[in-house]
Amino acid sequence: MEKVNGKSIVNGIAIGNILFYKKGEQAVKRIKIEDTQEEIRRYEAAKEVAVEQLNALYEKAVKEVGEMNAAVFEVHAMMVYDGDYIDSIKNIIESQQVNAEYAVATTGDNFSKMFSEMDDDYFKARAADVKDISERIVNILSGNEGGGNIGEEPVIIMADDLAPSETVQMDKDKLLAFVTRHGSSNSHTAILARTMNIPALIGAEIREEWDGKPAVIDGYTGTLYIEPDEDILSRMKQRQEEDEQTRSLLQNLKGKEDVTLDGKKIKLYANIGGVKDVAGVLANDAAGIGLFRSEFLYLEAEDYPSEESQFQAYKTVAENMAGRKVIVRTLDIGADKQIGYFNLEHEDNPAMGYRAIRICLDRIEIFKTQLRALLRASVFGNIAIMYPMIISVDEVRRIKEIMDLVKKELEVDGISYGNVEQGIMIETPAAVMISEQLAQEVDFFSIGTNDLTQYTLAIDRQNMKLDNIYDSHHPAVLEMIRMTIENGHKHNCWVGICGELGADPTLTRTFIEMGIDELSVSPSCVLPIRKNIREISLKE
Ligand code: PEP
Ligand code: MG
Repeated sequence: MEKVNGKSIVNGIAIGNILFYKKGEQAVKRIKIEDTQEEIRRYEAAKEVAVEQLNALYEKAVKEVGEMNAAVFEVHAMMVYDGDYIDSIKNIIESQQVNAEYAVATTGDNFSKMFSEMDDDYFKARAADVKDISERIVNILSGNEGGGNIGEEPVIIMADDLAPSETVQMDKDKLLAFVTRHGSSNSHTAILARTMNIPALIGAEIREEWDGKPAVIDGYTGTLYIEPDEDILSRMKQRQEEDEQTRSLLQNLKGKEDVTLDGKKIKLYANIGGVKDVAGVLANDAAGIGLFRSEFLYLEAEDYPSEESQFQAYKTVAENMAGRKVIVRTLDIGADKQIGYFNLEHEDNPAMGYRAIRICLDRIEIFKTQLRALLRASVFGNIAIMYPMIISVDEVRRIKEIMDLVKKELEVDGISYGNVEQGIMIETPAAVMISEQLAQEVDFFSIGTNDLTQYTLAIDRQNMKLDNIYDSHHPAVLEMIRMTIENGHKHNCWVGICGELGADPTLTRTFIEMGIDELSVSPSCVLPIRKNIREISLKE
């Protein structure tokens, strides 16, 4: 048995086999080869497999999202057969006497760079496509068909690091836990682990040779056991059973109100990243959805999701929530959430760069498509819309103008929409400082403590080295929350918290004393926080 420590970001025990997740790109090595003709044959065979896969994906997508949205796979299949692309790969294999993986990856990089430098928007968008097909062929050649395919059995995923675009593609039913060498407790992959309520460790010294070995993760102590002995196994199984008992005790709180002993009612909502997470929201009896991170719809897709596919997703969530509030946050990409087909330029400081509402107010067509889909879905339930990364009143006014325009266009098309509340995320110190003015523009505020901590303390939430001083309990952050609530209430604007701090049981009382109206937490935290709220007496 071997034992390694990491930093735990989600409690709980996981028992299962390890799957060492390799990224397609990392696996590519330049290897000298003798028989170039054999290498070209390998490439030709992989190319055919890629086209078969793309055709199958096309068929699947036509059924799920319609012909128009599926067309991207048809384009990819055609690109695989592009003469210049094929010639370049064969030429690299022959002239440099190298392996097919390297030739494909190099060609993919060269073509992608060439496309991205073109003036024409259509060709710019092909940069991501050519990278995508090249990765597919490389994965086939190297027998590493990662891309979210993690096999049939539930596994403990081990990786150097995981990007949101990778975790989002994994089959959630097959994930027992995450263990990564890098990453930080406030990254989106960590948040995803919390939403799924699976144990997760970061900063663990992992080794590839553990691939396939049995392991246990103790999320309470941050310990990873490889090939655990009988004693550890039986202790951990017992702890799992105890956890199960606690969970079933909490079940008694289902259907109960979120109210303190002295009658102060709180809206206790849940955070989700996609349609599938609604099951967890309902199972944990949240009173609504306080944050639907809609960018995960974009991260899951191969190209810009259409109005229709977004409409279907929002409608499904709204219908399943049966009249309970569903707050959808508009697209919040950039920083750690990168999407190939957006072709965002490299930035030295992406967390403070071109992201979230800044992209939406610049690329208005993308924003309008999302707003149209949301408004159309609003007749099927109780949808509210909120906007991320706000720093000024001017931004909010521009958003409202675009919203009015979209409404008018829908009216012209004879399409009805519901009455949606509009709110903003308060996650920059600028928004806090002008919260009194902002409160006069919107119906509600939702405090994003993850980013608010990052920007207030000037600590990159992704930087693991600074994880120990990234302190959401910092008096500056707590004072900002208090101030936001106070200013919101001056103008009839209700205030919630949807950042991770909202689920911190040690602060529930503080937030209620400050006057918070809503807390939105991971689905698995709803019942523990309900228990907390119901035990609080403000007079004590
Ligand atoms: C936040 O910043 O607190 C938040 C809820 O948004 P995200 O974590 O998606 O940036
Ligand atoms: Mg945020």
